[in-house]
Amino acid sequence: MTVFPLQNFLKTKAVGVRFVHDIINHEKMTSIIQVFLAKSHGHFIDGAWVDGVGAETIKVINPATGGVVSSIHSGGSAEVDLAVAAARRAFDSGIWSKMAPVERARIMFSLADLIERHAGQISQLEALDIGVSRDMMQTIGVQLAADQLRYYAGWVTKINGETITNSRSRSEKREFLTYTEKEPVGVVGQITPWNFPFAMAVQKIAPALAAGCTIVLKPAEDAPLSTMYLADLVAQTDLPAGVFNLVNGYGRKAGAAISVHGDVDKISFTGSTDVGKEIIHAATGNLKRITLELGGKSPVILLKDANLVEAIPAAARAIFFLSGQNCMAGSRLLVHGDIYDQVLSGLKIISEAMTVGADMETTYDIGPLISEQQLTRVMAYIDIGVSEGARLVTGGKRVSGREGFFVEPTIFADCNPDMRIVKEEIFGPVLTVQKFENDDLDEIAALANDNIFGLSASIWTADLARGHKLARRIKSGQVGINVHAAIDPATPFGGYKQSGWGREFGREGLEPYLETKAITAYL
Ligand code: NAP
Ligand code: MG
Repeated sequence: MTVFPLQNFLKTKAVGVRFVHDIINHEKMTSIIQVFLAKSHGHFIDGAWVDGVGAETIKVINPATGGVVSSIHSGGSAEVDLAVAAARRAFDSGIWSKMAPVERARIMFSLADLIERHAGQISQLEALDIGVSRDMMQTIGVQLAADQLRYYAGWVTKINGETITNSRSRSEKREFLTYTEKEPVGVVGQITPWNFPFAMAVQKIAPALAAGCTIVLKPAEDAPLSTMYLADLVAQTDLPAGVFNLVNGYGRKAGAAISVHGDVDKISFTGSTDVGKEIIHAATGNLKRITLELGGKSPVILLKDANLVEAIPAAARAIFFLSGQNCMAGSRLLVHGDIYDQVLSGLKIISEAMTVGADMETTYDIGPLISEQQLTRVMAYIDIGVSEGARLVTGGKRVSGREGFFVEPTIFADCNPDMRIVKEEIFGPVLTVQKFENDDLDEIAALANDNIFGLSASIWTADLARGHKLARRIKSGQVGINVHAAIDPATPFGGYKQSGWGREFGREGLEPYLETKAITAYL
């Protein structure tokens, strides 16, 4: 058996164990951010901020401290009606959908430029709102958002139908001209979750804008700040009023009102599988088009020839990135028996070396969970794991001495497929590890596929041919070989099974925002 250099990978910078880095210069929040936080945050409708009809507000909480940093107005069906009416007017007027494609692209590129220029402010807001480090937000969240906009801005001038060779000419002895045109679906409702909310919002609006749709977006009430900042940036572009609208509020009120609205033509939702199912029911009234990006319980599969120096830190990153609050989190680790003990001891060392922190502090590896409610849910799952007989290798407790919602990186070994902690999405820093002894790819795939979700997976092996063969057998929208969760604007992203309907990103992410019209002329 090879002796794995456990200590070495902790010292090796290249393996990137420390995926959350120091904040930029430790500077205080800028006055821009302070002014932004102090504002009364209403809804962005028809190009202007309005308070809406209700007086109810929702506190915006910093999960690292539990303290209130701002507040937003709580919208409901009245505000949604106003926003949908504005979006409908803007759509029907053709002010956006019929704008010359080069001009539409220019406006999207200008929004991407603005986002980059405001990366510092956006990152600070996201850091306060969800506990992500500013550095990670700037390098991953903001850059991904700008890239998405530019990617889809590039599509605007390339959305074309096609000419069809029509066979009716054979029987009717006449010539036909058949062609298709692509048209925007119309008014789209977009509902986003609280993990990486800025990137989520931008990745939703980018294909919709490219297609020529108009938008009513509702961010998660747990993390709305950066999406409101996005609306401020949109207001600085030449995007016509009414094309992008934002309604704040609870999902069961504002989100539900969007899902059921008769004048909304399509819903794009990212969030939990349970809410996704509710949205399907709500959307039946006018048969809205629906795309759903839902939950996951993604397997990370370590074959016995995996390069452990890379695979072990990557497995740690796959689960502990954003404290496990990531739909693609590699929360089910499947390890060949030959390397099982080595992998567990490597993961234990990495997890116990992780520092816990939050922004405005120094270097840290693991941040807070989003809310008290999420903390309670994750702690309940840890109790379930213990009671189900899984072996707690490390972690398992709330971090002591901190006010915010921190949970230790937690690893359960010797898990089996019947355990709830293996079957259900926890959305926290909890890894389950299962051992397999078999080298048969069908059996390994069966273990990996034994779940209601199918969002993401990764395979770690030195034998690329076996890696590709196993990838073919995995029922999942994304499969990485020696990489986990490789997000890219051009690469389709979405889920098999109960992880969702449809795809975002890439050309496939544009299609759900388009209708195809076939036109045939009898010549
Ligand atoms: P969630 O509870 O489903 O909420 C997502 C969004 O839906 C929020 O804006 C929420 O509003 C809203 N909402 C809640 N109830 C609603 C209803 N009845 N009708 C319409 N909208 C409603 O999910 P979450 O807890 O925020 O996020 C975590 C989940 O998202 C996880 O399951 C995760 O896997 C999934 N996720 C998936 C992806 C993906 O791309 N596949 C990406 C990220 C996250 P409020 O919260 O403001 O009430
Ligand atoms: Mg918050």
